Amino acid sequence: MPGIVSVAVPVPALDVLTYRWPPDAPPPVVGARVEVPLGPRRLTGIVVDAAPPSPPGDVRLRDVSAVRDDAAFVPPSLLALTAWVADYYLAGPGDVLSSALPPRVLTGDVTTFKRRRVAVLTALGAGVAAGLEGVPLEAQAATASGDAGTVRLGARQRDAVLALAGAPAGLPASALAIRGVTAATLARLAQLGLVALHYETLSRDPFAVHAADAADFAQTLSPTEEQQAALDVLEPLADSGDFRAALLQGVTGSGKTEIYLTLAERVRRDGRQALLLVPEIALTPALAGRVRARFGERVAIQHSGLSTGERHDQWHRVRGGQVDVVVGTRSAVFAPLERLGLVVVDEEHDGSYKQDEAPRYHGRDVAVVRASQQRALVVLGSATPSLESWHNASRGRYVHVRLARRVADRPLADVRVVNMRDEWAETGADAPLSRGLVAALAARLAAREQALVLLNRRGVSSAVLCRQCGSTVECPHCSVAMTVHGRGVRAFARCHYCDHGEHVPAACPRCAAPYLEHVGVGTERIEHDLRERFPEARIGRVDRDTVATRGSLTSLLGRFGRHELDLLVGTQMIAKGHDFPRVTLVGVVSADVGLGLPDFRAAERTFQLITQVVGRAGRGERPGEAIVQTFFPTHYAVRCGAAQDYATFAAKELEYRTALRYPPITALVNVVVRASTLERALDEARALTRHVGRATADQAIQVLGPAPAPIAKLRGEHPAPCFAKGGDRAAMRSAVRSALEAHAAIARRAVVDVDPVSML
Ligand code: ADP
Ligand code: ZN
Repeated sequence: MPGIVSVAVPVPALDVLTYRWPPDAPPPVVGARVEVPLGPRRLTGIVVDAAPPSPPGDVRLRDVSAVRDDAAFVPPSLLALTAWVADYYLAGPGDVLSSALPPRVLTGDVTTFKRRRVAVLTALGAGVAAGLEGVPLEAQAATASGDAGTVRLGARQRDAVLALAGAPAGLPASALAIRGVTAATLARLAQLGLVALHYETLSRDPFAVHAADAADFAQTLSPTEEQQAALDVLEPLADSGDFRAALLQGVTGSGKTEIYLTLAERVRRDGRQALLLVPEIALTPALAGRVRARFGERVAIQHSGLSTGERHDQWHRVRGGQVDVVVGTRSAVFAPLERLGLVVVDEEHDGSYKQDEAPRYHGRDVAVVRASQQRALVVLGSATPSLESWHNASRGRYVHVRLARRVADRPLADVRVVNMRDEWAETGADAPLSRGLVAALAARLAAREQALVLLNRRGVSSAVLCRQCGSTVECPHCSVAMTVHGRGVRAFARCHYCDHGEHVPAACPRCAAPYLEHVGVGTERIEHDLRERFPEARIGRVDRDTVATRGSLTSLLGRFGRHELDLLVGTQMIAKGHDFPRVTLVGVVSADVGLGLPDFRAAERTFQLITQVVGRAGRGERPGEAIVQTFFPTHYAVRCGAAQDYATFAAKELEYRTALRYPPITALVNVVVRASTLERALDEARALTRHVGRATADQAIQVLGPAPAPIAKLRGEHPAPCFAKGGDRAAMRSAVRSALEAHAAIARRAVVDVDPVSML
C-alpha cells in the first residue's frame, strides 16, 4: 500500500484533499509544499497530514505531481493555527492557508526575491588599484598598459577598479552603471581576475517607503504611576511562559502604546518574539516607526498595503528567525513567529479585525487562540473594549488592567452636545454645521490650532429624493439609495455597495416630476461648506474616495501631523488611534447616523465612535474640546459617549443584550444564501435551516429566518439571511457544517459567518 498524504489546496473546499505520495520521493513532511493535480489544473498545496487514515470506499486517489520541500516550509505552529481557523469559522483549510501567507509565498517564484549583482575587488584587483592610485590620469594609462605587460586596462575598466578600491564591501552593478561601467566591462574585469561578482538578496524595506521620522521615540519614557501599576500586573504574566490573556482598558491618551513596547522589550530579552496588531494600515507606519526606533533592525511590518515583493521579503525574514517584533494589521496574526511570547491587539474593539470575505476570521479572536497555542501573553488594548472582551474580563477569563487617567494628567476633552433639532428650529434652516461648531472652528483656526471634523458618510449627499412621489434614485443592482458625489453638472450618483455609477437624472424616473432634492450630507459636502466659510484654512478630506490609492491615507495623515493642514474632514478613519498633539477641537457632525441601522451592535458602534473621536482632542499641551451634534441627545450611546463613561454604557448595553439574548450572552452563526430570485434564495435557505433545526432540536438553539435581507438585492443577487443563535457555539457550528455538507450545491452559494460582526 503506497503512502498517502492530506494536502491543503487553496480552493474553497471544506476539507483537505488526499493524494498518493510518489514512491520514489523521500518520506512526506508536514508543512512541505507539493504540487497536486485538481481537475485539469495543477496547484501548489501544503502537506497537513503525512499519514492520514485511508479514505473510505475504493476511491481512486491521484498522485502528488511534485514535491517542493524536504522540510517544513510552513512552520508547524502556523499549521496548527490555520487548522483551528478553518474548523472554527467553517472555512476551507486551503483557503485559510493561502490567506495566512502573503501572495506568491506559496508558489515561491524565484523572481520574487529581489537580488542585485555586486562587484568586489579581488586581492589582485586591489594590488592593481594601489598601483593606479595617486598617479595622474595620463600617466596611469601608460603605467597600466606598460606595467610589465601584466594587465592592460581601458579607461572604463580603470574607472571601475578605482571606484571599487574606495568601497571595500563592493558596489552594486547598478551604482557602477551610473558611472558608465557596463556589465560587459565588469565581466571582462572578472575574467582578468581583478573583480569578483556575486548576487546579494535584498530585503525590500517598507520602512524606507514610509520613512517614519521616529528619532523622538528612541528613548524609553519612564512610566507614569498608572503605567507602572499596569506593568506590575502584566510583566509577571509575560514572564510566566504560559498562556495568559489581559484586557488593558485605558482611556484615550493614557499611554497604552508605551506599555506594549515595554512588554515587547521584556519578552525579547527573554529570547522570545512579540506581535503587535493594529486595525488600520495607516496606523502601522506610526507604530512601526516607534518600534523600529526602539528595537532596531529586527522589526518586520506586515499588511496588505505593502507591495507583493515587500510582503514576500518580510515574511521570509520573519520565517528565518531574523525578527523580534512584527507590526501589522489583521493578517499579520499569521506571521510565522516560532518563539512567540507576546501578542498585542491594539484597539481590539475595532470591526476591521474581522475579515469580511472568506475565511471570515476575527483577528482578535485568532490572536487569543494563537497565544494559547504558543503559551504566550495576549494583551487586548482599548479605551472602549468590545462587549465581548469586557464580558470576558468581568467573568475573570481575562485579567483586567485599567488606566483611568491621561499621561501627564492631561484632562479629557470637554464635550458639548448640540441638539440639532433645536438648532434647526432656532435658525429656521437645516445647515449641517451648527453655529456653535462654526464658531469653535473659527476660534481654533485663529489660534493656529488644528481640528478634526468627523462625519460618517462620504459623498455630497446621501440620496436623491423626489419631492412629489418621495422615491429615491436606487442602484439597479442593489436596491439601496445611491450617494451623490460632485455638484452641479458634474453630480454623479454612486452605489456604495457595488460601485455602480450614473449621472443624477434631471427628473424623477418614476413620476417624471422635474425636480429631485438632495438630502442628507456627506464628507464632500462638509468639505465644500468649510472651504466656503474658511477660505484661508488648509483643509484635507479623508474618506474612501480620497484614500483609495496605496499610501494616500498615510500621506494625508502625515501632512496633518506636520501641521501642513489645519482641518481634517473625514469618516471614521480619522477617529482611530492617531496621536495628533496639536488637535484641540473635534466636531462630530452627525453622531447618530448609525443608530437607526438594524444591527444589534448599532449602539455599541455609536458609543465607540463618539468616545474615540472625542479622545483625539487635547492629547498635547493644550486642553481639548469636542462638539457632538445629534438628533438623539438623550440616547444612552450618545450620552455615555459624550461623557466618555464606558462603565455605564457597558452595563446598560449588557442588560439589553441579556434581555434579547444577543452576543456576548449568546453566540451567532450567520448564513446568507444568494440566488437570482428571492423565492429561490429563501427556498434554499429553508433547506439549510430545516437541517440545522433537526440537528439541534434537543438543544437551546434558535434557528431564525430566512427572511428577506435589509438590502433586498445586492450586486444583482437576492440574499436570504438566516441565523443560529444560542449558548453552545460548538453545537451550532457542527449543525451548520453538516447542513452545508448535505446540501453541497447550496453551500457553494452560501456565505457562512461565525461570530458575525456586521448584521447588514
Ligand atoms: P494611548 O495609546 O493610550 O491612546 P499613547 O500611548 O499614544 O496613548 O500615549 C499618549 C501620549 O503620551 C503619546 O504622545 C506618548 O508619547 C505620551 N506618553 C506615553 N507614556 C508616557 C510617559 N510615561 N511619559 C511621558 N509621555 C508619555
Ligand atoms: Zn449597487
